Amino acid sequence: MCQSAAKPNDYPQSEFGAVLDNYKRICYNVENAKAKYRSNDDKIDIMAVTKTVAPEKINFAIDQGITLLGENRVQEFLSKKDSYNKSAQVHMIGRLQTNKVKYIINEVSMIQSVDSLKLAKEINRLAVKNDRIMDVLLEINIGDEVSKSGVAADGLDELIYETAQLSNVRIKGLMAIPPVGCGEDMFERMHSIFLRVKENAVPNVSMEILSMGMSGDYELAIKHGSNLVRIGTALFGARNYMEG
Ligand SMILES: *Cc1c(COP(=O)(O)O)cnc(C)c1O
Repeated sequence: MCQSAAKPNDYPQSEFGAVLDNYKRICYNVENAKAKYRSNDDKIDIMAVTKTVAPEKINFAIDQGITLLGENRVQEFLSKKDSYNKSAQVHMIGRLQTNKVKYIINEVSMIQSVDSLKLAKEINRLAVKNDRIMDVLLEINIGDEVSKSGVAADGLDELIYETAQLSNVRIKGLMAIPPVGCGEDMFERMHSIFLRVKENAVPNVSMEILSMGMSGDYELAIKHGSNLVRIGTALFGARNYMEG
């Protein structure tokens, strides 16, 4: 039986001033999890997930030390990006329609949510056109949830093989959103897939990043090999979709 790891009430309400405390707590927890489960020289990146969050608050987080932002929605990102402090890198982490790639191709340094060859090909086409290389992660639907994006685990090898042929796309790792509260085996499964792909050493594919873990489960994710945790609520407070 799944037990919810994160109850919304566990997190501070959405107040600008709380962001610094939250950030400190997250850093502390990440360091603790690292000390407990990982080797000393492992590097674990903390991404700030920005959906519904005002640019001023995002810039405040950047001032505190955040260097990586995660964007879910193309439209929202485009309306906010000019206000962002440019010192942080931006990754697309949300479901991405092929017809929207053109809006972000020169705005993000990585697309974490690649889950089909069609999408990978469109990214490649626009990367060629814009004379750039786009780093990507392949997103796996590790919980086999109908509602979630991501390639099925048993379709991953084919997607890797096909995407690796594309001239201007570089596979840098894997991303997943394990079902909330559904426990360690999902994280462990992701980790073993990651290690298996790494071992296969496919040309043009480097398994550097395992992006998993959110506000409610990032310590668990770190235990199971994650080196990029994507944090929204625990950093910025509860999301207000009315304002978003
Ligand atoms: C919203 C979101 C997050 C952050 O979720 P929180 O639980 O608020 O930390 C992380 N990854 C993705 C893909 C998201 O859409």
